[in-house]
Amino acid sequence: MIKAKKSLGQNFLIDQNIINKIVNLINIKGKNILEIGPGTGNLTKKILEKKPGNFIVIEKDFNLVKLLKEKFNKKIEIINDDILNVEEDSLHDNILTVYGNLPYNISTEILIKWILNINKKKIWFDCLILMFQKEVADRIISEFDTKNYGRLAILANWRLKIKKICDISSSCFTPKPKVESSLLLFEPKINFVKFQSPKHLEKITRVFFMHRRKMIKKPFLSLFNNNKKLASKLGINLELRPQNLDFDTYFKLTKEYESLRS
Ligand code: SAH
Repeated sequence: MIKAKKSLGQNFLIDQNIINKIVNLINIKGKNILEIGPGTGNLTKKILEKKPGNFIVIEKDFNLVKLLKEKFNKKIEIINDDILNVEEDSLHDNILTVYGNLPYNISTEILIKWILNINKKKIWFDCLILMFQKEVADRIISEFDTKNYGRLAILANWRLKIKKICDISSSCFTPKPKVESSLLLFEPKINFVKFQSPKHLEKITRVFFMHRRKMIKKPFLSLFNNNKKLASKLGINLELRPQNLDFDTYFKLTKEYESLRS
């Protein structure tokens, strides 16, 4: 028997309806798959039945790696590592489809890391299917003028099309987590605003959202050298709060910030 490790956020998906739903979202046959945090292999098994091309899994827990080796033998490539330490675009020459039911904090961290790294090379995935704590998923899919809107939504929407698949009840996992989950599907956008570096978008949103309830006047003027004219040129009312600016406005601000620096 495998005893779930709390420290590694181990909540194994056991609801077969949900597992089937996940593997039927896209046509897996012949696709190169990366699964992160496969755990005891519940989802892995179903993915395999769909006859993928190359199939790589990355699991941090050595005990689970042993178990996965026994279960799947040579059918999958098993990497025993922390996903946060893996250079994602070194994984495979061909584009990957990614599945992940990871600990919630890692899902968010990895999503942001991957988005910020995209610029470096050609895009290495065609689809990400990831599990999040429901509240975090709500933030990722939020629109401006709502209370959930913030950096996560802006960064994710810059480069990815996002679709919420469903909420998943905590009773679909064992051990049962304390929170509800949601499954999101991401695909790279074809048209998106090009930046010198997405780190600049990250910085702009970080500074703007430092104080969610305050007017944007202070962060704006500090980032743009007190240039009030720029605000009127961009049609931005400096008395608004950070959540009142839509995605495009944050992208425009980032472009302005980059031209100021270059
Ligand atoms: N996907 C499986 C397991 C979910 S539990 C399922 O749905 O049943 C989360 C899994 O992620 C565990 O197996 C845990 O060991 C693994 N994990 C946790 N942190 C990780 C990390 N940083 N890198 C890779 N795997 C990790």
